[in-house]
This record gives sequence, structure tokens and C-alpha cells, in this order.
Amino acid sequence: MLRRGRGEPFHGEGILAITKALLQSGVAYVGGYQGAPVSHLLDVLVQSRDYLAELGVHVEACSNEASAAAMLGASIHYPLRGAVTWKSIVGTNVAADALSNLASPGVTGGALIVVGEDYGEGASVIQERTYAYALKSSLLLLDPRPDLARMVRMVEQGFALSEASSMPAMLQLRIRACHLRGSFAAEDNVAPAISARHLMEDPARFDYGRLAHPPVTFRHEKLKSEERIPAARRFIAEHRLNEVFPGRRSDLGLILQGGLYNSTLGALQRLGLADAFGESELGLFVLNVTHPLVPEEIRDFCRGKRAVLVLEEGQPEFIEQEILATLRRFEVDTPIHGKGFLPRAGEYTVEVIARGIADFLAWTAPEVELEAGRRWLADIVERRAAVARALEWALPPRPPNFCIGCPERPVFAALKLAQARVGDVHIAADIGCHSFATFEPFSMGHSILGYGMSLASRAGVSPMMRRRVLAVMGDGGFWHNGLITGVQSALFNGDDAVLLILKNGYTSATGTQEILSTPSPALKDEAADKTESLVDRNRTIETTLEAMGVRWLRNVDSYRVDAMRATLEEALTTDFAGLKVIVAEGECQLERQRRVKPWLAGMLERGKRFVRVKYGVDEDACSGDHSCIRLSGCPTLSVRPATDPLRIDPVATVLDGCVGCGLCGENAHAAALCPSFYRAEVIQNPNGRDRFAAGLRGALIRTLRAS
Ligand code: SF4
Ligand code: SF4
Repeated sequence: MLRRGRGEPFHGEGILAITKALLQSGVAYVGGYQGAPVSHLLDVLVQSRDYLAELGVHVEACSNEASAAAMLGASIHYPLRGAVTWKSIVGTNVAADALSNLASPGVTGGALIVVGEDYGEGASVIQERTYAYALKSSLLLLDPRPDLARMVRMVEQGFALSEASSMPAMLQLRIRACHLRGSFAAEDNVAPAISARHLMEDPARFDYGRLAHPPVTFRHEKLKSEERIPAARRFIAEHRLNEVFPGRRSDLGLILQGGLYNSTLGALQRLGLADAFGESELGLFVLNVTHPLVPEEIRDFCRGKRAVLVLEEGQPEFIEQEILATLRRFEVDTPIHGKGFLPRAGEYTVEVIARGIADFLAWTAPEVELEAGRRWLADIVERRAAVARALEWALPPRPPNFCIGCPERPVFAALKLAQARVGDVHIAADIGCHSFATFEPFSMGHSILGYGMSLASRAGVSPMMRRRVLAVMGDGGFWHNGLITGVQSALFNGDDAVLLILKNGYTSATGTQEILSTPSPALKDEAADKTESLVDRNRTIETTLEAMGVRWLRNVDSYRVDAMRATLEEALTTDFAGLKVIVAEGECQLERQRRVKPWLAGMLERGKRFVRVKYGVDEDACSGDHSCIRLSGCPTLSVRPATDPLRIDPVATVLDGCVGCGLCGENAHAAALCPSFYRAEVIQNPNGRDRFAAGLRGALIRTLRAS
């Protein structure tokens, strides 16, 4: 799809359309740090390295968002178009320093930051707005209407706008826009004039004005308001980047962020105020660029209207306030409504928007017929109540969980056992799959202060605590930030700290992207038994820690619960007062299974014998206290009714999905549980000996049963 040329149809997801748009825009370099909902963008570009090399486009998988933002520095002097991507708001926080220093001198080549606005019902991070960064650093903020052709156009125009104004641009994509599917007519990709194939002869001449350093920063600040923002406004107006859909009524209107267009139209349809083709009763002013706003466009849309409603997701209501101030300056007295009728916080779904518009119209234009819409809204309430009644209780929450066989689960089982002996400890948690330990059955973690920040976040707690504090971090977090923010600081200050690094080999939570300590491709090829847990042969994390001066360092197999328990106890109680690091090593099971399954399918197809390990529970031995479940949380370890009619409590059972990670056996041993677990070997494509042995065993069992 990325190779499609002029006029050819491109079908796919929104985020992939953006990827194609970058190539159509002549981008010379791309980078970023993965995170939902924009992980695909970088993943696809990394996987398309060969094709991008043909175009001369450089791709960099950056170690964090700060390094991605700093990469845009290439556009300060050179006419190079560059794009980076990350998840916001968290990624923008990490990138903030570089963004300020980029926005101050401004850019020559267009600089585009594609941010995945992880806000609303499907979000996985704190709920804040990227908008504040656009305001404080004077960045352009594009919020395109979710339509593939429009999104592609906004990428292309975003670069041009960035160059016309010298301002870096952020293109904000909500979760729904990223995963929206559709089509557009492709254009040819544009190989950049200066690129990895066509190199620059010389660097730019020295220009102090291009540094973010006083005294030129004082001039930069003036340039922002006196030249750059006015230039941006001119470009936005001339190229009609914002859209007006007049509507059948000229007296009432809505001003909305571009990203809310589809939901708003859905809401208007439900209220009987729009048709399926986008024809609306009310006029719509769609802000595909939400910063800067163009005052004259606001004035022209609002002037003469009875009332206007501003749809602005999240808080504070920056856009609404600016519209109010703008109209005041123009002495236009159209009443403006917004957060009064719409909630301050939370995603603006179709239902939320419909309620807001209905209340707005009831207040400003009570003659508008809303009977059908009101009935639709009332039906939703009734349906929810009916579902609750039918279930007799609220739906149980279904929090995310470690994958079946995840190497991180045993570590938290061991930590549970260790705490039973040394006492509860303060646990500084982090971002990553291991944060699932904050849910049942572990419920561990006192704070999460950011990606790779756990060790740093315990610095203020440790000195005040009688027992040692434990910081938990993944290898993704370690390379992203933890190495410098936590380890360096703890060593420099001589802190008495314990760090547990979960080394699964990938940044698993964002889509198992590779990192410095990922098992090498050669190792994956060479491994005779593909089912084994592969590790980084170079011990990159361990050697880095040793080189930095860590003197207490242990590497423990994640699945060895008792060994892990003992090591944790030692770290929490030893007389050694410096930084203690435990590296829990076990390959991400998701990646492992991705490797194992095709290999196994091939083996079976060729008729090769394969032995698979599976765990099970002997019902007769199960005591029914379910402590194994409380220690594990594996989704395949479940309960079922006992077959013995005299037992009323359910017994534990292992469902089919078991990947035989061994945790059940390890837990039974480490926690001295009832001896109900058995380890079975499932033989596929058995040979003659296997069949003979199975026949013999079967006969023996039948004899014993009969006797
Ligand atoms: S993706 Fe990997 S590390 Fe994350 S929960 Fe699944 S198996 Fe564990
Ligand atoms: S051995 Fe136990 S913990 Fe491991 S996958 Fe099977 S049921 Fe789950």
C-alpha cells in the first residue's frame, strides 16, 4: 500500500494513511517512540526500511520521546521535512524540553509530530490535553476531521504550514481516528531532494540565532507572536484548512474540534438534525487546526447567530475561552455556550454530544423538534437499567492481566511470598506490562510516576521507611529513562535501594518492539529448541549496571519462584547498603509464542514428534482453598464444579490455554500448597514407542480401576 501511486486507491486504517501521507509529503527522516494509538506508524516504517531506503528516507526507532523530539533539530537549519510520533500526553511530557528548544528558534524544513491523543474511554494514561503544550511552546496543533482523505491532506498541508510559519506542527489523532478504516486516492511518493541518498556537501553556516540560547531567545519569543503566529493564521485562512458546513439554519451553529466531527454528526443524526450524508440543520465550523485559531474566521461564523455551542473535549476549555475573548474584541455579542451544556471531563461520545446539543437547543431554541432524539437518549438509559436488572448485579470489572505464561507473573507470586516473610514493603511501580500487578490477585504498587521512573520515585520514600523500598521496572523502562533517572541518581547518592528489573527482552506493553537487550535474530535462528526462553546473550543490562558501579547484582530466572523469593528476601534484608539490583529474566511469552507457534505448526505438518508440557489439577487432591489462584492469577487457572456430589465448593482446574510455563508447579513448591498439580506431557505425532507405552499404561490403569 505504501508504494501506491497517483490515483490508486489506498484502503486501510487511519494511522496507516498518515504513514502514506508522510511519504507523499517528501519527508526525509522519521522517528519516534511507540505507544498506543500510534505504535503502528513507527512499526510500519521500521518494517518498511528497505522501501524507505529506496526513497532515501531515514528511519530511527528512538530510545524515548525526548530523543525523537530532539531529532527534529535537523529541520532547524536544513530544508528537510521530518516527522516523529509518540503517545500523548505522557510522550509529550518526556519530549517537552526538546520541544521548547525546537520551537524557540523555529524550523526551516517542515517538522511534524504525530501524537496519539490517548484520551477517553479506551485510554491507558493520565487524562490531560496536549493542547497546553501547543499554547505554551507556540506549536501548531492540527486536529483533522476523521476522514482518510482529510487526514492525508492535513499531513501534507501541515508540513507546508510549518514551513510558512517556522513553527513545528503537532498533528493530534484520537484513538478512534487512528483505527478508523477508509479509503483515499493516493498520490505518488516524493523522494526528498536532500536525503540519505542525496547528501549535503557542507553543514549550514554558523548562525547563533538558530540556537535556543539567550540573548536570541528573547527575540524568538517576540517572533512567535509578531511573525510566526500571524503567518500561520494567513496560511490557514488562505488554504481553507478549517471547514465551514453552512447547515440549513443560519441562526444556530456548532464550533468543534476536527477530531470530534464524526461523533458530532452521529449525534446530530440521532437528534434528527442531520442526514447520513452530513447535511446538517445547524451550521458547523470544523477546526482542523485548533492552534492558532484565526480570529476573523471565528467572527465570521458567529456573527449574526442566535447562539453557538463549542464542542471541546477535555479541560480546561482553552478554545472556548479564546472564542469568547475573540468575539469580545470584535464586539460581536453572539451568546457562546460550551462546558455549561457539555461535561468538563471525559470523552465526547455520540451520546454525550447528543445530550449536550439537546440541552443547548432546549435553552436557546426551544422550538427545535427533538422528540426522536430525546426518545433515543431515554432508550439508552432504559436499556442500561434493563441490562443491570437482567444481570442482577453490575458487570464485574475485567481489568487487563498478564498473558498466559507471562514471565512477570511468577515474579510477583515470589514477591507475595517474600513479603509474607519480611513484611510488606513500599513498592514503587512503573509503566509496562508489570503494572498489571497492581490488579488482583497481586494488588501491588504504591505509585506510578512515569515510564522508567520507579527507582527515582522511591528516593523520597526510602529514607523515611524502616523496611527497604522496592522499585520495579521493565527493561523497556530501563532503556527509556530508568537507567539515567533512577540508577545513575541512586548510585551517585549512594542510596540504599532495591531495583527489580523485569527483563523480558522487549517493550512488550507497546507491542513488543525491540530494544538493546532483545535476543538477537541470530540467537532466534540458532536456537534448536524454539520453545525455550531466549535471553540477551550480551547481558547488555547487567554489563551496563556493572560498568556504572552496581556491586550487588543478581540474575534470576523469572519462573523459579523459590529462587526469586529467596533473592528478594536477601535484597530486602542484606547488610549491603548500596543499590541492589535483581534482574528477573524470562522472555516475553507473547513473543515466545509468536516464534514457537509457526515453528511447531511446521513440525507437526512434517509429522515430527513433539512433546508439549501442560499442567493440570487432580480433583481428588484439590483442597478447594484456591490459594494457587490467589498466588498466580493465570487466566487458564480457573475453577469448575466438583464431580464429587459430596463436594459443594468448586475445585481448581487448568483450562486448555495452558502453555506449560511451570508456574503452577513452582508455586505449589515455593508456597507448600496442596499436592494437587500434575505436570503432563502431551505428545503430538507420537512414535511407535509412545503408542506402545500409552497402551500399556492405559491397560494398567483400567486394571487398577477394575480391581
Ligand atoms: S506481552 Fe509479554 S510481558 Fe506483557 S503480559 Fe504478555 S507475556 Fe507478559
Ligand atoms: S503452568 Fe499454570 S501458570 Fe503456567 S500457563 Fe499453565 S496454568 Fe498458567
